[in-house]
Amino acid sequence: MKVAIIGAGAAGCFCAIELKRRLPDAVVEIFEARKRPLAKVAVTGGGRCNLTNSFENINDLREAYPRGDKLMRRVFTSFDNKDTWEWFENEGVKLVLQEDNCVFPASQDAMEIVNLLKTRMRQLGVNVLVNSKVTSVKALLDQYDAVVVTTGGYHKPVASSSTGDLFEGLDLEIVPPVPSLFTFNLPSSPVRDLMGTVVENAEVSLAGTRFKASGPLLITHWGMSGPSVLKLSSYAARYLAESRYDATLLVNWLEGMNPDQARQDIGKTAVKNPLKQITNSRPDSLPSRLWTYLVAKSKIRQDARWAEIGQKGLNRLVETLTNDSYHIKGQSRFKEEFVTCGGVSLKEIDYKTMEAKKYPGLYFAGEVLDIDAITGGFNLQAAWSTGYLAAVSISEK
Ligand SMILES: Cc1cc2nc3c(=O)[nH]c(=O)nc-3n(C[C@H](O)[C@H](O)[C@H](O)COP(=O)(O)OP(=O)(O)OC[C@H]3O[C@@H](n4cnc5c(N)ncnc54)[C@H](O)[C@@H]3O)c2cc1C
Repeated sequence: MKVAIIGAGAAGCFCAIELKRRLPDAVVEIFEARKRPLAKVAVTGGGRCNLTNSFENINDLREAYPRGDKLMRRVFTSFDNKDTWEWFENEGVKLVLQEDNCVFPASQDAMEIVNLLKTRMRQLGVNVLVNSKVTSVKALLDQYDAVVVTTGGYHKPVASSSTGDLFEGLDLEIVPPVPSLFTFNLPSSPVRDLMGTVVENAEVSLAGTRFKASGPLLITHWGMSGPSVLKLSSYAARYLAESRYDATLLVNWLEGMNPDQARQDIGKTAVKNPLKQITNSRPDSLPSRLWTYLVAKSKIRQDARWAEIGQKGLNRLVETLTNDSYHIKGQSRFKEEFVTCGGVSLKEIDYKTMEAKKYPGLYFAGEVLDIDAITGGFNLQAAWSTGYLAAVSISEK
């Protein structure tokens, strides 16, 4: 049997290893456009490689995979995060689970993962052909018994459907790729003067939509970032692309509190401390510079005391605290980490095998598919799981 894998990234290399273990006599060749395999894995997680997640905080897979949750549910019945943990530990990589549920190699070095996968491929006799960009999947399908496409996401944010000529001659639906996992530019907002400020529990949403996310929020010199913003960018990736990254961001600085609860809470503070200066009695969760900024934004004098602000002032403060509005105009990269929303439509794929429904012998795995996740190790998990399932399916065919 001859199998071609296009792309020596996380999904392609993982698939090749599993395939060779199951079919030692098969010829497995990986075509890699770049001069080195696994270049992206080497830089994942800031060079530490967040290779999976415990999924403990995930109640519904849709929270982790805004695109592809149903496919991932099926794929996890073959290979899930626990299997990933076991797989790497069996290969001699000690893993650590962080408090935030992210899993890293104990060495905190992505190169340990890269070197392990490269070594196993060499030992098993996988033929890695570097500097070998494939330009036509169809041409390879004629030469191999099976072809696995694992070409990953798209390097540049693109607004329309564009996958080069790779799929020419094949009738495959491509969901137009757009970037996911980015931060928001707020070019005209004075909040940027508070750069470096972190709020541990904020809720962010987009006005007029159902998109919302919560978690830590970081104010930067260009706008807003942090886990809550990255999550929101993922959930709303396509909406924001279609809106040309021009939208209204709403921030609830008191996550978990609605305006009525906030009014009661702040009302109590006001009644208890009528003579205290407002800027000197902030909620525990808000840094003092941010509190001062929010008080000023509510058109309350910096030296005002609680007894002076009246019902109207209280209402304005509550509105700013729970429904603070910012104009997003543009997006920025987060530490060069981004993934692609879009790719080969999941309608084309048999979820049980990762095989293309219309083309027997053609398989897909990893980010080339219309699957992507929030940060936290979920994207690599998708690459391992789908690569694994493609290998199992080919070997059982
Ligand atoms: C900076 C950064 C940090 C990240 N950190 C994390 C993290 O810590 N945890 C996490 O879960 N996710 C992380 N991600 C996302 C994660 O790296 C990807 O989702 C994952 O690598 C996708 O795996 P893949 O095998 O599908 O694609 P890739 O790993 O991108 O591999 C695709 C390969 O195919 C090759 N290729 C493309 N086209 C062709 C062609 N025509 N012919 C031959 N070869 C081709 C490419 O050169 C590449 O080597 C990060 C992403 C970035 C950019």
